Amino acid sequence: TLHNAQRLSDLVNDLLKLNAEQNVVVCETIEAKILFDNIIDELLEPIQSRNIHIENRTDNVLLCGDKRLLHRAFSNIIHNAVKYNKPSGVIIIAAAETADNTCVTIFDTGTGIPEDQIEKIFDPFYCVDKSRSRELGGSGLGLAIVKMVIEKHGGEIKVQSVADISTTIVIRLPKPENKEAC
Ligand code: ATP
Ligand code: MG
Repeated sequence: TLHNAQRLSDLVNDLLKLNAEQNVVVCETIEAKILFDNIIDELLEPIQSRNIHIENRTDNVLLCGDKRLLHRAFSNIIHNAVKYNKPSGVIIIAAAETADNTCVTIFDTGTGIPEDQIEKIFDPFYCVDKSRSRELGGSGLGLAIVKMVIEKHGGEIKVQSVADISTTIVIRLPKPENKEAC
């Protein structure tokens, strides 16, 4: 569809730009609650049509970084959590701060990712199930972009998954004082 073609072209553009850029030096203060509310708003159509229950538990947490890039990264993760969820499934977005880092967790009750494929899902164009991805309109670029964005912020991404049950994505982002660039 036109929408999928537009999304693919946006993703490729971002990937090329990210490849060319140095580490992110922008340190905008971002209210996590607002960021995720905005992302949820943009994904409202698939969320509602799949009857997904989504909770944004990120009140009072601040993120630091490039607003547009972090929006793109978290949007890609939540898009997956919607797309690969079960009908009437659940998504919980939570955040917590330590002295040096802010951690965001995105949990979904979807198909899960087989243990031996978790490492590969960050490779460009990698899809666990090619036919399913074709059907759902996936290019395999979403998580490759997530990884680049998070690493350019000096952060880290971890995935835990139980096949057929759930997936949890944990993103660690350094706080400004913990990051040379800021
Ligand atoms: P797109 O480029 O449109 O995002 P995609 O969703 O196929 O396409 P990625 O977002 O990079 O690509 O994800 C790679 C693969 O990892 C997916 O094809 C899917 O198999 C698996 N995956 C990612 N997130 C989840 C999730 N939350 N639950 C289950 N599988 C997932
Ligand atoms: Mg995706």
